[in-house]
Amino acid sequence: MKIITSACLLGYACRYDQRSKPCEAVINLSKRDGIELIPICPEELGGLPTPREPSEISGGRVISQSGKDVTQQFEKGAEAALRIAKDHGCVYAVLKARSPSCSPCGVYDGSFSGKIVDGMGITARILKENGITVLSEEEI
Ligand code: SF4
Repeated sequence: MKIITSACLLGYACRYDQRSKPCEAVINLSKRDGIELIPICPEELGGLPTPREPSEISGGRVISQSGKDVTQQFEKGAEAALRIAKDHGCVYAVLKARSPSCSPCGVYDGSFSGKIVDGMGITARILKENGITVLSEEEI
């Protein structure tokens, strides 16, 4: 089984601050027989550099901390992630909680104050709309 996975959870330094967010549960999953994790970073796939400004979803758009609208890059990255998932026949995704791209379970509210609201990241939403079961690293 191939599972599309947020690359930062596997130790890739692709986060906005050029750090990773390795998750033991996800790394252990990658060691199980019959499972192949496919790492993706939708923000990099959308053409954003690393490091980059943090961004949050606000009013249906994705806005960087300095006020730039980066919705187009986030959507481009989500479409690329979906293509990769389909090419590999993935029916599951394990994605980083609270990311404006990846989160299947809550996102920051757009105020850059650390407040979480209901909602999904742009990539998580597109994957789910296309029949892929999306879980966070906190749910597996
Ligand atoms: Fe990790 Fe997803 Fe953010 Fe890339 S876009 S750094 S994979 S949470």
